[in-house]
Amino acid sequence: MKITAIETHVCHARMRNWIFVKIITDQPGLYGWGEATLEWHTQAVVGAIKDIETLLIGEDPRRIEYLWQMMYRQHFWHGNGVVRGTAISGIDIALWDILGKIHGVPCHELWGGRVRDYIRLYCHLGGGKMEDFYETDTSDAKRFGELALQAVEEGFTAFKSMAVPPTMPIEGLMPVKHAEACVKAMREAVGDQIDIMVDCHARPSPRMGMLFAQALEPYGLYFFEEPCWPESMEDIALIQRAVKTPIATGERLVGVHAFRELLEKRAVSVIQPDITHCGGLSEARKIGALAEAYRVAMAPHNPQGPVSTAASIELGFATPSYIICESVHSDVPWRSDIVSEGFTVEPKGRIVYPNKKPGLGIEIDEKEIKKHPFQQEVLQRVFYKDGSIGDW
Ligand SMILES: [Mg+2]
Repeated sequence: MKITAIETHVCHARMRNWIFVKIITDQPGLYGWGEATLEWHTQAVVGAIKDIETLLIGEDPRRIEYLWQMMYRQHFWHGNGVVRGTAISGIDIALWDILGKIHGVPCHELWGGRVRDYIRLYCHLGGGKMEDFYETDTSDAKRFGELALQAVEEGFTAFKSMAVPPTMPIEGLMPVKHAEACVKAMREAVGDQIDIMVDCHARPSPRMGMLFAQALEPYGLYFFEEPCWPESMEDIALIQRAVKTPIATGERLVGVHAFRELLEKRAVSVIQPDITHCGGLSEARKIGALAEAYRVAMAPHNPQGPVSTAASIELGFATPSYIICESVHSDVPWRSDIVSEGFTVEPKGRIVYPNKKPGLGIEIDEKEIKKHPFQQEVLQRVFYKDGSIGDW
């Protein structure tokens, strides 16, 4: 059995270009789907997949770990940068889809079978609609409360918000007051039964991250995400030691070694590998094993397209430390035209029951993808009041 072609199919979905990876074999009708979406790096990732293709054509798609080692280690430069890491991830996901199809079982059965009956989903405020999630101003606490209520009315028991504004390395009281007012409004809108998350997008400096974390501690957040740059793991660890709130990080980390460092430093209570960046399902499983050793929870980062979601769900059914899956459902209105999914979502509570179809259990409609060709992603740039560069 041989790999005969690796195709990339780019689908413009407003904030992101979804990069779907299709691996074709010499067996009639046997192919696999992966996803390698990396916002604002679309052409680089497509090029990186093209580079890797030279290594994989003619190889046996069933030798996933062997091929992973080849992609990561060969040609001298290790695949731990985010562009190469994303390319490897997309290919790795597609190889697991193929292996599941060969054996006629869902991927989670290849990994030891189901460890749970269902997986809980959480949404972004506004369901991932760019204007609601990313552009609601933190001076408008009332709007945060309205969107929180809307998420619960749509059946979710957990949601994430961007209640921490961009700030310079040190700012006075107002941004902290705004964040606190937003979280208070959300908590008052939905009560104590619902889990609220706040994503800082690593906007704050370590000190501002500490101030935000302490101000929001009384509101019982489910987790508080990326309180400062992931390059500053020591500072994330300091914040985690200073508050009871579980701190989460990991969407920008590639490879098990980066997560080893995060865990060794006891920096977080929740790790958030992105299966489309960290090295795919193969690497996410190793990261999950490490998380087990530290008894740290896993909640994958998953705001991308539908193949990423299917991969996250398959991983969750076989990973004990997995607590919840990120999801978007209103990023583009035609999302469900692109894919048919093997798993089912119970609208009440937004819980996912397992896929019973082989591999990832998905079918992708290539004709639908062609309706949304590549366009430059909507730029998201932050400048502080004085014109200096900030983090989005
Ligand atoms: Mg995040």
